[in-house]
Amino acid sequence: MLNIVIFGPPGAGKGTQAKKLVDKFNLIHLSTGDLLRSEVAAGTELGIEAKKIMDQGLLVSDEIVIGMISNKLDSNPDAEGFIFDGFPRTVAQAEALDSLLSGKNTSINQMLALQVDDEELISRLLKRAETEGRSDDADESIIRNRIQEYNNKTAPLADYYQGQGKFSAIQGTGSIDDIFDKLTEAIEQIAL
Ligand code: AMP
Repeated sequence: MLNIVIFGPPGAGKGTQAKKLVDKFNLIHLSTGDLLRSEVAAGTELGIEAKKIMDQGLLVSDEIVIGMISNKLDSNPDAEGFIFDGFPRTVAQAEALDSLLSGKNTSINQMLALQVDDEELISRLLKRAETEGRSDDADESIIRNRIQEYNNKTAPLADYYQGQGKFSAIQGTGSIDDIFDKLTEAIEQIAL
């Protein structure tokens, strides 16, 4: 199996690149942000609770997102691999993911971390607010909360994966295709 974590702050291009990588490497895309937004759209109890937190730019509880990922891993027993997008976002999530995967006799192969500076992130997200209409993209102070949550709780995961010898930094600026080529090259190096 090929299991990749695509990593980086909000607006780094994780979702865009993950969609291209799933096609190229025949993986299943697991985005906790997308899963949460489907719950919000469906108006479930979980969605209603999650939306309050997402709209403030804060992280929803580890328990909720770990449960979602666990269900998705169980419902795709024949997958050739997964690309985790927006998960894990805390050390507790990373530990839970390691344990879920080891229960299936597999593991994360590599974290690919897209590097983009804060001002570029903010301008990308404000632009995305106009095209995709996400409420958490529309307000600069919410975006700054998301970046702060990332710096406080999520950025330390780079060390977590580095400690396992599974970390690659990839420059996340330039054309979408150039970034995709760099990601592909990194995956081919570890997978072949
Ligand atoms: P994203 O689409 O990945 O930018 O996620 C949008 C929002 O969903 C985040 O700002 C969080 O509120 C929530 N979220 C998504 N993934 C996670 C996660 N792994 N842990 C906690 N909250 C998450």
